[in-house]
Amino acid sequence: MTDHLERARQYLAGAGVDALLVLKYENRRYITGFTGSAGIGLVTEHGALLAVDFRYYEQAADQAPACEIVRGGTDLPGALAGIIGPHGLRRIGFESEFVPYAQVERLREKLQPSELVPLADVDRVRWIKDAREIAAIERAAQISDAAFAHILTWLRPGTSERDAAVEFETFMRRTGAEGLSFDLVFASGPRSALPHGRATERVLQPGDFVTLDFGPVYEGYTSDCTRTVVLGRPDDRQREVYAIVLEAQRRAIESVRTGASSRAVDGVARAVIEAAGFGDAFGHGLGHGIGLEIHEGPSLSPRMDVPLEPGMVLTIEPGVYLPGWGGVRIEDDVVVTADGCRVLTHAPKELIELPR
Ligand code: ZN
Ligand code: ZN
Repeated sequence: MTDHLERARQYLAGAGVDALLVLKYENRRYITGFTGSAGIGLVTEHGALLAVDFRYYEQAADQAPACEIVRGGTDLPGALAGIIGPHGLRRIGFESEFVPYAQVERLREKLQPSELVPLADVDRVRWIKDAREIAAIERAAQISDAAFAHILTWLRPGTSERDAAVEFETFMRRTGAEGLSFDLVFASGPRSALPHGRATERVLQPGDFVTLDFGPVYEGYTSDCTRTVVLGRPDDRQREVYAIVLEAQRRAIESVRTGASSRAVDGVARAVIEAAGFGDAFGHGLGHGIGLEIHEGPSLSPRMDVPLEPGMVLTIEPGVYLPGWGGVRIEDDVVVTADGCRVLTHAPKELIELPR
């Protein structure tokens, strides 16, 4: 974790603060290694404190050896203040997108006269993944690949979305997923036009598109994959829409490389879909970072323009959604490399007709 701590120190130097309070679970875990549900980290130029309550005294000492563990009892901010008081930390940053207002007020009161400085982009410290993190995401992706192959043997007319979803989830848990980072998206027939439709009692019908979006977690790291399959023979429109989305995804993946702009990569896929006349039916960004959170930065969208860097792990997930008819989304996870990207999810992408 010491390299992650170093990243946090670089961040606070760039943000113009003397210290950084770390309350968000994912940031705390990333910077300190501590996986408990509660605690306050405090990173300074040369030090790192982790205040935890009674439940976590031992776990914190074990998981966060680079931190001085503060036994905080029932008043973590007060315990922190007792230690940093004499150190003269003038400006202390906090995660303004995460910490509730009331908690900011309590922290401000305990830590005065230090000034609390809102920082909206602390999560950026996690954008670039190291080899260990990429390996965890890759393992999660392998679990998702195997689960997809398994569920193909289950999907057929007459099966309910819910039954198949339960089997899908169970398979992922059985094969090593410690959890799912979001409720499965399982949407069949006209419901496949819902980008985030959850499994219902709907029974699969011949001719349905079925969209599955799944994110097993391994060692805290998530993967995120979507496939759309068809029950029986696809009609011409289904073939057409599927081919457009697949082409948009293929071209976008080809455009990912170090230095490429996040907005431009989104634009590559968007241009394919717009040229085919479905621009209005692709109403979300092309992708997002994944890691300890299922949605992290940077996002690939018309609204964010940042240069991609080696080690960023991103989803590429164009979709076309036509209300009342259905939809197609195809999503893979890629890690940015110097001259391109490496795809981590390997479930097949040709339009699969089921049962086979
Ligand atoms: Zn997804
Ligand atoms: Zn996604």
